[in-house]
Amino acid sequence: MFSKILVANRGEIALRVIRAAREMGIATVAVHSTADADAMHVRMADESVCIGPPASPQSYLSFPAIISACEITGAEAIHPGYGFLSENAQFVQIVEDHDLTFIGPTAEHIRVMGDKITAKDTMKALGVPCVPGSDGGVATLEEAKALGEEMGYPVIIKATAGGGGRGMKVAQTAADMESAFMTARAEGKAAFGNDEVYIEKYLTTPRHIEIQVFGDGKGRAVHLGERDCSLQRRHQKVFEEAPGPSISPEERAEIGRVCAEAVAKINYIGAGTIEFLYENGEFYFIEMNTRLQVEHPVTEAIFGVDLVREQIRVAAGLDMSFHQDDLEINGHSIEVRLNAEKLPNFSPSPGTITQYHAPGGLGVRIDSALYDGYRIPPYYDSLIGKLIVHGRDRAEALSRLNRALGELIIDGIDTTVPLFHALLAEKDIHTGDYNIHWLEKWLEAQEA
Ligand code: ADP
Repeated sequence: MFSKILVANRGEIALRVIRAAREMGIATVAVHSTADADAMHVRMADESVCIGPPASPQSYLSFPAIISACEITGAEAIHPGYGFLSENAQFVQIVEDHDLTFIGPTAEHIRVMGDKITAKDTMKALGVPCVPGSDGGVATLEEAKALGEEMGYPVIIKATAGGGGRGMKVAQTAADMESAFMTARAEGKAAFGNDEVYIEKYLTTPRHIEIQVFGDGKGRAVHLGERDCSLQRRHQKVFEEAPGPSISPEERAEIGRVCAEAVAKINYIGAGTIEFLYENGEFYFIEMNTRLQVEHPVTEAIFGVDLVREQIRVAAGLDMSFHQDDLEINGHSIEVRLNAEKLPNFSPSPGTITQYHAPGGLGVRIDSALYDGYRIPPYYDSLIGKLIVHGRDRAEALSRLNRALGELIIDGIDTTVPLFHALLAEKDIHTGDYNIHWLEKWLEAQEA
């Protein structure tokens, strides 16, 4: 096992990794930009290294700065968290070239799944059901228009390099095709340096269901059921739960088996998430994320496992500490994302926390880097914490969420907390009757 690891991230996810390492008796190194000198992850780690100025390309995304921090401190492995360098195949290669261990999948797995067209082809070949669409990339507008006619509108045009909701445009009718096609290409080019796009049938009322998988890199893999992340704004998740209210035990077992077998066949190592749209009882693959997800705690809650601990174990060459048969669902878990954002426009709201009080009690987990007096820097993602509740069933989890939100105090900035209070007053949230468009429609109705 490693004796020291470096956490190449910030905020709540850096704390999450430090906590797992500490329980395993592993020393931790935090890295930080000059804007984060007072951040909680720096305070909580055993050691810290300043790796550059506020702008991420010169700090959290800088290969030389992070590799040097490992060399200075003697860290043997790097946990990337999510975002930043977590899905950067080139970085993984460089880590390995320096005889360090990347706590995550191989550069090759990241490369294959990072390109959405290659990912879809690979999954299809592994027997995973996919959204009907173009056979690979679509190079010209004429081709796109012909496909639109053939498949039937609406369709969605997606940048193969896209992510985080960027590089996707819906064409409702043939008249929209030109602008959707051009915009998706331009966004792909601007944000990811790649203008290749592909086309999929646009599903009108699906749920977003994702399957957590975990592999040991030696041909064994398990699944840890699904998460329903259908409540999204601009393709960004805000509320996630496990198990999915619409998924039966039989459906879970079947799609879970397909996913676990697929990743076992490619000798996948570590945590991964296979994302699907789910409509009329059918699953359609959209992409695979080769990292820990923001919403992983809901899975941890219902299975009673520590996914970061498992990531560290398999990266060190050990076996996973569970088999498929050991994994049994216990109750229901919900996570809400606490963002430093001002409603109703969700505009960033950095600033100083004048008062912070975290909720507690049975079945309440808060993963957050906040503290009294903390100054949230304006340079990074607006996620400042996650509130996760666990109950014996969905109804209990919802009342616990309501209770915990009532205890939570974050003063000095605007947050998304009022959104969750309002959502908890909605009948559809209690019945679980929502799809990927529900939240956008609800937000529009609030403004009207
Ligand atoms: P990203 O990598 O940017 O997160 P995804 O491919 O995972 O993009 O899609 C993100 C979200 O976009 C999905 O959760 C869903 O809401 C919507 N979406 C993607 N593909 C389709 C589709 N074929 N039909 C309908 N909605 C889609």
